[in-house]
Amino acid sequence: MKQLRVLVVGGGIGGLTAAIALGQRGFDVTVIERSDGNGVEGVGISQQANVVRALGGLGLAEEYVAAGFAYRWTEIYAPGGSLVARVPVRSLIEGYPASMGIPRPALHRVLGQAARRAGATIRPGTVATGIADAGSAVNAVFSDGTEGSFDIAVGADGIYSQMRKLIFPRAPDPEFTGQSVWRYNLPRPKGFDAMQVYNGPTGVGLVPMSDEHIYLYATTPEAGNPVFPTEGLAARMRERLAGCAPAIREIAERITEDAKVVYRPLEAIFISGPWHKGRIVLLGDAIHATTPHLGQGGGMAIEDAVVLAEELARHAEPEDAFTAYRARRLERCRFVVEKSLEICRGQLGLGPLIDNARAGAEMNALLAQPI
Ligand SMILES: Cc1cc2nc3c(=O)[nH]c(=O)nc-3n(C[C@H](O)[C@H](O)[C@H](O)COP(=O)(O)OP(=O)(O)OC[C@H]3O[C@@H](n4cnc5c(N)ncnc54)[C@H](O)[C@@H]3O)c2cc1C
Repeated sequence: MKQLRVLVVGGGIGGLTAAIALGQRGFDVTVIERSDGNGVEGVGISQQANVVRALGGLGLAEEYVAAGFAYRWTEIYAPGGSLVARVPVRSLIEGYPASMGIPRPALHRVLGQAARRAGATIRPGTVATGIADAGSAVNAVFSDGTEGSFDIAVGADGIYSQMRKLIFPRAPDPEFTGQSVWRYNLPRPKGFDAMQVYNGPTGVGLVPMSDEHIYLYATTPEAGNPVFPTEGLAARMRERLAGCAPAIREIAERITEDAKVVYRPLEAIFISGPWHKGRIVLLGDAIHATTPHLGQGGGMAIEDAVVLAEELARHAEPEDAFTAYRARRLERCRFVVEKSLEICRGQLGLGPLIDNARAGAEMNALLAQPI
């Protein structure tokens, strides 16, 4: 296939991975990213064996693993704090770990550097003020007044995707799930080397993400999707953890700095119809965003990017590649979105409480399949 000029809108996890995968195949890639480089949340992200495998396929396993903290099992605790299961996680590539905690800024650094090495041009602080699919090309006008013409455009601009609005103006907006998540970085206690998940109506997890740090997350019901001022966030987060296991309550005492609490409402969207229109295609949260209960949103965006690049390299016509890409991704992404929402609804009392160990094992078995 001809070496296309590709505009990637959004330099997040999916967009940067697309830039790497496409750049490595010789495509001419430009990434525009709205944020000026300081927009990434300072907390961590947990990722599973399928991510290590996908990044390994791009030659990044070494760098990626070195930038985070690898762990080989997940410990599941009852709400009261007793250990109920220690679930080993199986690596999918020889010599590399199965699961990772990694600070989000470190993940973005690894992906950004690799994208530039793959030849991509990254333009931080830039948005498109106009994008038009002219049939044989996608023409864009950028916020700095420059213009560009591309063979295709990839909307990797996250859950509130403007590219989705552009090509599917009638698509539903993301829906608030009734739950929000609170996150906070803490020093890593000596010997803390596995992810810990606490079952219960307030889902709590502790994830090692570097030799120095872990992060704590707590998913809580937040009826009406309230907006909180920064002042008082630490006290609110501690309050939410007051009914949790003693070990969590003890850790919660160290949540003291309002500005370091990262609070996010949890919203979801899944587009089950086409994922492209003409020469514009979507990936990642723009097309399937869910709650973080399985820790797979970023993983799905990364896998989308890899599959999209493979299909673009395989097909002469972009639209054939886009159709083949969606066919390979749809059911896998649907599973992650729906299973995550099931866990969320269970915690909210809107459905049966889902056993995290079982849901994790089911997910690992499915995601071990080739992408
Ligand atoms: C609270 C929370 C915790 C999570 N925890 C995990 C986890 O532990 N593990 C996991 O795998 N996933 C997790 N996720 C999900 C994960 O963060 C997302 O699935 C992932 O970031 C999606 O990647 P993306 O590239 O599609 O979108 P994003 O990472 O959101 O990137 C979109 C990018 O596009 C940029 N952008 C937006 N609009 C424009 C525009 N008009 N022009 C240019 N740029 C634009 C944004 O600035 C952003 O950089 C979590 C999500 C939430 C909300």
